[in-house]
Amino acid sequence: MTKIVNHWIGGKPVESAESAAGAAGTYGPVTDPATGAVTTKVAFAGVAEVDAAVAAAKDAYASWGTSSLARRSAILFAFRALLDAHRDELAALITAEHGKVHSDALGEVARGLEIVDLACGITVQLKGELSTEVASRVDVASIRQPLGVVAGITPFNFPAMVPMWMFPLAIACGNTFVLKPSEKDPSAAVRLAELFAQAGLPDGVLNVVHGDKVAVDRLLEHPDVKAVSFVGSTPIARYIHTTASARGKRVQALGGAKNHMLVLPDADLDAAADAAVSAAYGSAGERCMAISAVVAVGAIGDELVAKIRERAEKIKIGPGDDPASEMGPLITAAHRDKVASYVTGAAAQGSEVVLDGTGYTVEGRPEYANGHWIGLSLLDRVPVDSDAYRDEIFGPVLCVLRVDTYDEGVALINGSPFGNGTAIFTRDGGAARRFQLEIEAGMVGVNVPIPVPVGYHSFGGWKDSLFGDHHIYGNDGTHFYTRGKVVTTRWPDPSETPTGVDLGFPRNH
Ligand code: NAD
Repeated sequence: MTKIVNHWIGGKPVESAESAAGAAGTYGPVTDPATGAVTTKVAFAGVAEVDAAVAAAKDAYASWGTSSLARRSAILFAFRALLDAHRDELAALITAEHGKVHSDALGEVARGLEIVDLACGITVQLKGELSTEVASRVDVASIRQPLGVVAGITPFNFPAMVPMWMFPLAIACGNTFVLKPSEKDPSAAVRLAELFAQAGLPDGVLNVVHGDKVAVDRLLEHPDVKAVSFVGSTPIARYIHTTASARGKRVQALGGAKNHMLVLPDADLDAAADAAVSAAYGSAGERCMAISAVVAVGAIGDELVAKIRERAEKIKIGPGDDPASEMGPLITAAHRDKVASYVTGAAAQGSEVVLDGTGYTVEGRPEYANGHWIGLSLLDRVPVDSDAYRDEIFGPVLCVLRVDTYDEGVALINGSPFGNGTAIFTRDGGAARRFQLEIEAGMVGVNVPIPVPVGYHSFGGWKDSLFGDHHIYGNDGTHFYTRGKVVTTRWPDPSETPTGVDLGFPRNH
């Protein structure tokens, strides 16, 4: 029996609307990446369904926007408890539609929960600022207020965590939310909305509409949507930023990446190889913070590549619900084929193919014959003008580049159009310090390969990895989801006599 995933509008499931011809509603297929079988139908929203979700959010904003901080915080604490109790269930939903292994899916839920922790403390974050006696009997207060209805559009690779980067904080700030999750793995988002409702969130504060460009474009043009948070690939991030900004909306649009790891000659090469393999092949490379390029400085290249190869060859690939698996399949067959094309074309473009993961099958398990499988690939001496280096592959393909000096390595990394995350591996504190300051990326790791900031520091890249000027969650998140207001107050002392008319520009004295 095919499962059906509906929209979640006004606090209840809403089926796909019937098409104009009166036929059955519009649905898209959701596939189990391990078997290649379509397991689920997801409702695809048209303009009317998106409008209904925005209308529900607008209605709910009338009271949620002025609800007390104590009430918001209490509901968030209750949501946090429910999330904690449902970690396993959420992880299983993620694995069934995304394919990542269960332990990795649990990690995703835990990192999303971190942002709920942050949102639970909204009482502290929205405290505002007050200066007394800025002039005689004059006080100035800076306060922050919610925007109204805000929208979030999220990618397939973190179907629970990335939505949680957005809606808990937006809602804690007093906004109401319309989420358009990835149509490839939509179930986790709906389950999150159900749990939030169970925690006491009023109907309409969080809505979920599924679909593709039609739904996204309606959110971008809808006059009642005040801000848009987007996470996805660079071309779409650029489009979202341009389109929604032109319509006067506040936009943060996080894009794709090519994350480098610079390994200096003094680094502990075993630790560097462990980190490179974990960060390149975890979640089959489908992470925006995956390390996809290792830059070896000096004479360490051969030894480092040998150590990476030795570790990569031992990774166990298999279905995400098998506890023995360390890496699962890719999201779709089309994506698997695209990833494979970078490996098959690499030698002709000048790379040395150390490991070729194309053609991988799960041995002795015919039920997985049509899954979206690919093994681990390792490319060495990758030319900077080759496709494997230039493009975000978003699969288990690690490129190694070799340079002679630290300066050459930094110049290479800074030459990339992307600037999401980067890491340096070294024992030299001075070099690491220089790297932090000289490198053009939003998130830097020192002996840490995937420097995803904790919830109370913001996440975001530079250059083509982020469009807009706010990073996501942390203090930037609170700022993005609120607007500032400054109130200047004079309460004259009862004994004072009025100052009289003065046409001069007000001076503080
Ligand atoms: P994607 O850009 O294809 O899709 C993201 C969202 O945009 C989805 O909800 C999708 O339905 C929608 N969308 C797709 N095409 C559209 C179009 N033409 N018009 C309007 N909306 C459209 O991304 P994806 O394949 O789901 O996710 C992988 C990408 O996301 C990678 O590039 C990865 O680096 C990036 N990503 C970035 C971050 C970050 O924080 N910078 C985090 C996670 C993923």
